[in-house]
Amino acid sequence: MPQRSVAEDLARDLPATPFVAGRFESGPASQSFDVVDPVTEKVLTTVAEADGDTVDRAVASAHRALDEGEWGRMDGAARGELLHAFAQLLQDRAESFADLESLDVGKPAIEPRVIDLPQAIATFRHYAGWADKLTGHSIPTSGYQGRATLSYTVRQPIGVVAAITPWNSPTMIGSWKIAPALAAGCPVILKPPEDAPLTSLLLAQLAAQAGFPAGALSVLPGRGPTTGRLLVEHPGVDKVSFTGSPQTGYQVAIAAAKGFRPTTLELGGKSPQIVFADADLAAAAQGVALGIFANQGEVCAAGSRILVARAVYDEFVDRLIQLAAAVVPGDPFDPETTMGALINPRQLERVLRYIRLGHDEGARLVAGGGRPDRPGYFVQPTLFADAANSMTIAREEVFGPVGTIIAFDDDEQAVTLANDSDYALAATLWTTDLSRAHAMARRVRAGAVAVNGWSPLDPRLPWGGSKLSGHGRELGLAGIEANTELKTVTIVL
Ligand code: NAD
Repeated sequence: MPQRSVAEDLARDLPATPFVAGRFESGPASQSFDVVDPVTEKVLTTVAEADGDTVDRAVASAHRALDEGEWGRMDGAARGELLHAFAQLLQDRAESFADLESLDVGKPAIEPRVIDLPQAIATFRHYAGWADKLTGHSIPTSGYQGRATLSYTVRQPIGVVAAITPWNSPTMIGSWKIAPALAAGCPVILKPPEDAPLTSLLLAQLAAQAGFPAGALSVLPGRGPTTGRLLVEHPGVDKVSFTGSPQTGYQVAIAAAKGFRPTTLELGGKSPQIVFADADLAAAAQGVALGIFANQGEVCAAGSRILVARAVYDEFVDRLIQLAAAVVPGDPFDPETTMGALINPRQLERVLRYIRLGHDEGARLVAGGGRPDRPGYFVQPTLFADAANSMTIAREEVFGPVGTIIAFDDDEQAVTLANDSDYALAATLWTTDLSRAHAMARRVRAGAVAVNGWSPLDPRLPWGGSKLSGHGRELGLAGIEANTELKTVTIVL
């Protein structure tokens, strides 16, 4: 049974300092920051921030591990064993991790227990399996000056990887970056989100316990404009894997471009959920509500643009209104709670500002629209109907439990509306017509399309988007290959 007091004790007792070269730093920190519980608004703990000197030492220790140390000499099978050991430790402590994440992020305790932690464990196991299977090709050529040649490719670690994570699901998204990079043989320097850094510090503890050599994984807590910026601008970093907002993603891309260093950017979304007239409306309404209200709507793939066929529009909107009314915002550790708090006052103000804009631009508020009468950074599950795709609430990412409902007349208009967005991350289609499902899946621009449900979160399935949603893919084979450099070797025989 998840308990707030147990999670609070864990938060207080964690080593809250940077983890560099295989140990937590012990000296006095030049700067620190408070980690605040979004539900009680109380300080959970104070964390020492990694400064420039710490970033330098983390990068140097990562290079030592790769270039001179045991980590760089370790073969793929041995790295796989370490990743399996790490996954097992994570599994053994999954409930503590999950409850700490609920406390830190403000999400219902059940969610990290059934989603984030199982996903993170599966991701470490998945990439443990890949670690000894990265191979190249033997490629026939026309030879060299009349002599035969043997040409082949090998995949080598891309180098030191900086991984920067957001606060909505730090353990799961952290695993998407750490596991494939370590499997490929890259040392990783993780910069967790300042609003929810606690489970990442716990991950550092597990890395030491699992026996990763010093420098293979470092964890540098700190704020974005300080520690984050110092890390991505560091010339010793060879690749940046970033998840966060497009605004920050742009700054990360500029910093990385200075050394022509590759990036994987997982940014936001304004994902369409398209409900066709032939859909199973009860199932579609459940799925659409989940798509916008799960994790308080703080999900990059949140289905925040709800496109509904006019023939079933009124009935579907009524169903959604009923489902919104059934959502129970509250303390994540109360078993009745189905929706938690937003991460911080800034995010609360941002979401409330979008709700005001929805009103001002003429959408019809049909659910929520305010704050529940209780402390914490809560906002009611909110729905705007009769919206236009040109409205700000249909164009910009709210990152909160606010759904914008738009009617369409036919399939052509549905596709046009779905693709008329600056984002292209995910889409869901609700239809019982198989041909329509396949045809629409092809035409909707998104990195992932799911029909009659949400894409299962599965480390085998690549994840990522295009346009303002970023570039590159995490997970699957693409996720590990993104941490490698492809080298061609030719021998003149
Ligand atoms: P953010 O961009 O402010 O921060 C993300 C991370 O970047 C944090 O760790 C932060 O400390 C760091 N950071 C901030 N400034 C930096 C800088 N100049 N250099 C380096 N690092 C810096 O985003 P957020 O507020 O933490 O998260 C919300 C946003 O993230 C939303 O827009 C959401 O769509 C997006 N997001 C996307 C995904 C995805 O998979 N596509 C997942 C979760 C969140």
